[in-house]
Amino acid sequence: MRNDPEMNSVSPKPRGRTFFANPGPTNIPDSILRAIDRPSQDFMEDGFVALYEDCIARLKRIIGTEGHVFCYAASGHGAWEASLVNLFSPGDTLLMLESGYFSESWTEMARKFSLTVETVAADWRRGAQVDAVRAALAADRSHRFKAVCTVHNETSTGVTLPVAEIRAALDDTGHPALLLSDTISSLASLPYAMDAWGIDLTVGGSQKGLMLPAGMSFTAVSRKAMEAHRQARLPRHYLDWTVMLGRRHRSFVGTIPTQMFYGLAEALRLLEEEGMEAVCARHHRLAGAVRAAVRVWSGNRGPELFCTDPARASDSVTAILMPDGHDAEAVRRAAFGRYNVSLGGGLGRLGGRVFRIGHLGDLNEPMVLGTLAAVELSLRDAAVPHGRGGVAAAMDALTA
Ligand code: PLP
Repeated sequence: MRNDPEMNSVSPKPRGRTFFANPGPTNIPDSILRAIDRPSQDFMEDGFVALYEDCIARLKRIIGTEGHVFCYAASGHGAWEASLVNLFSPGDTLLMLESGYFSESWTEMARKFSLTVETVAADWRRGAQVDAVRAALAADRSHRFKAVCTVHNETSTGVTLPVAEIRAALDDTGHPALLLSDTISSLASLPYAMDAWGIDLTVGGSQKGLMLPAGMSFTAVSRKAMEAHRQARLPRHYLDWTVMLGRRHRSFVGTIPTQMFYGLAEALRLLEEEGMEAVCARHHRLAGAVRAAVRVWSGNRGPELFCTDPARASDSVTAILMPDGHDAEAVRRAAFGRYNVSLGGGLGRLGGRVFRIGHLGDLNEPMVLGTLAAVELSLRDAAVPHGRGGVAAAMDALTA
């Protein structure tokens, strides 16, 4: 290797712990890593079944539902797919609220399953507007829309949609469509109340607010959605809720990732110990610090908050828009290569235009301040114009 010139030109990895400021996967607490570190086990053993049932009962409290939770050994895409194949028949029409890359991806998936998707179009910097949703529902007099699909927290843009207001739009117009909500980057970080908000299906994943490795996702399903499931004709097997209900755990068609549930039990213990209200308040506080820093950086024609509606600014992820002519990837490279800080990149059409700071999961003030300091250094390294003093503004926000 010493004679390989290419290897010799690679600079050594910076020392110290990686600061993982991606919006998912997120930091995994050491106690969860220790909980997962277990030998294989027969998932039919009574002890494991009891652990599984306890985890699901507690997860339901976090989701805020009495509905059934079906789990999949798959990342969030698996739960998206489960939501489509279990609820709809070929040719059904969905109304997708545009929010960003993830609403586009869910749309693309639905079309591949022969569903028709109409979109409430939106500026990605704000997300679909409730009035436009209400108008689309009111215009659908024959009730073609079988469901309204929302990404509660659009991870690509850092915009949170007011799902409870979308429920109100359905109620105001007397529209019977199901309301589907993707909470992959909001569950266990932002306030969420599935049943109280009248949501029929919640999509969640393991690797963000729940602080677990990627690889498990789930859907929580209302009674109304279960009724729709019985009429739905799209082909399915591994993701089929009816098949699952016949299994001992009433979930999982195949082998259950047992270690994930030991991790989930510990994650739930951590969340319960802190209390969901305090968890959400911590996310709000840390997000405020990130936004305060970005507002300062935006001086001197620097990078700015991508989300232009303060009421919708996400408390779990902030997307930062680069000034014209500057590449977000140069900032990310400097942050990772020099300071060992991993930031999120721009997705889809936002590639190179934004970078993202994830501030969800197992995170505290010094971790956020360290990340912000590394970003500010990286802006200097990449010769991106910006206002100086973002970290000081973040500290002020944290002590205000
Ligand atoms: N929906 C949202 C809002 C997401 O943030 C993601 C991934 O980050 C997904 C869906 C897709 O989930 P996964 O990458 O776990 O398959």
